[in-house]
Amino acid sequence: MDQESDTLRHHCGVVGVHSANPDNIPEKLFYGLFALQHRGQESAGICYRKEIPEDGSGRFVTYKDLGMVSTVLSRYLNKPHPSTLGIGHVRYSTRGGNQLENAQPLAASCNKGTAAIAHNGNISNAALLNTRLSTEGSIFQSSSDTELILHMIARSRQPDFKSALLETLQDLEGAFSMVMLHEEQLIAIRDPWGFRPLYIGFSEGLTVVASETCALDMLKIRDFREVEPGEIIHIDSSGLRSETFSPKEKKRRCVFELIYFARPDSLVFGESVYLTRKAMGAALAMDESIEADLVMSVPDSGNSAALGYAEKSGLPFEQGLTRNHYAGRSFILPTTSQRELAVRMKLHPVREVVRDKRIILVDDSLVRGTTSRILISLMREAGAKEVHLRLSSPEIKFPCYYGIDIPTRKELISNSLNPGEIAAHIGADSLRFLSIPRLKECLQDGEGYCYACFTGEYPIQPREV
Ligand code: AMP
Repeated sequence: MDQESDTLRHHCGVVGVHSANPDNIPEKLFYGLFALQHRGQESAGICYRKEIPEDGSGRFVTYKDLGMVSTVLSRYLNKPHPSTLGIGHVRYSTRGGNQLENAQPLAASCNKGTAAIAHNGNISNAALLNTRLSTEGSIFQSSSDTELILHMIARSRQPDFKSALLETLQDLEGAFSMVMLHEEQLIAIRDPWGFRPLYIGFSEGLTVVASETCALDMLKIRDFREVEPGEIIHIDSSGLRSETFSPKEKKRRCVFELIYFARPDSLVFGESVYLTRKAMGAALAMDESIEADLVMSVPDSGNSAALGYAEKSGLPFEQGLTRNHYAGRSFILPTTSQRELAVRMKLHPVREVVRDKRIILVDDSLVRGTTSRILISLMREAGAKEVHLRLSSPEIKFPCYYGIDIPTRKELISNSLNPGEIAAHIGADSLRFLSIPRLKECLQDGEGYCYACFTGEYPIQPREV
């Protein structure tokens, strides 16, 4: 792929709920999605099967809008909405991608019944499939790759929904952890590489599928397991049926979930996010030669790694940066000056902590270098003597085609400058990244992850039209 065709990708959270007895499914979806809010703040939505008591039938109701879960879906709180199944989605915003038509779940009726889908990840051969379907006459309402899946199921010549879905899955490449509804069934699917996390949990007639275990915790579910890569699970009133829809590929779980994306109290890929981040911080400290007075984090993304660093180095940990939790996201703003202002609005040093100190500042990653450049200048203004930046990820040099929002290659600072030059550019006294071998040592199965954003070695080549 050439540099100009690097595109921004979305990253989302999904939840699915099935109950053996009618229950307030929309409310359960609300709480699950609320716990996954960090996975997407652009839009929130649910689709559930509304029971029609008169004749015992049901119909799908979809409600979605731009905005946070608490704003969009609070209408479902404290009011009865009897139902036995539903799915929900939060969508991660990218520059220019903030459109209602891309909000999920997507629902459609076709010759194989009524279905709805919520998807986390990116189909890396979407452009190819899109062209094929458009040539054959399909009309798309959104620019999301998720809509493709419904079209492919509808157009399949297979006799029923289940076989059409299995046929469609064979054609998909890339990352897809998804939940679907079909008639009275909840379906959970994870791609054969396992790029994105997906869990399934059980409690007293309730089955819940969710991107991270923090959503299961929210619903008091402690009995859970991962949906396996290449697994499809059908859940209905007769129970649960699991199948493998694809031969096992080499696992290529996204290491950036553990570095940055997932919530620290979650498990993803069977790993504790918090403990893995602490191990990454400790691994950084192992190779340290700089003398310093204290360790600080860039909150919240650097907190766990900074604690690990402090513990390993024996240096005190201080909360020397205060985060304003009411500030919005700086990462997606279109211009450097807007991003700079947003960083100032979000983070500010505590003078009494940083004054006259030699500081190790830990963050999870460096993308364009905006956050750290602003922070270091603010820390110097507040009297910091030395600032040594440490990153608990390797250098990000390549875009992600499987669901993480990473800017174009040109914008990634590690593509144009080496660590010494970056230190000079952002005003740090020194700068170090975690190496890939050290990162692998922090994981239970270091070979089973995707490191493409650091190495450019894509497990599945993104396919152009
Ligand atoms: P930058 O300021 O462009 O160097 O971005 C680095 C900061 O953005 C770090 O504090 C990271 O925690 C955070 N970050 C890294 N990747 C992402 C992402 N995909 N979306 C939002 N924030 C991110």
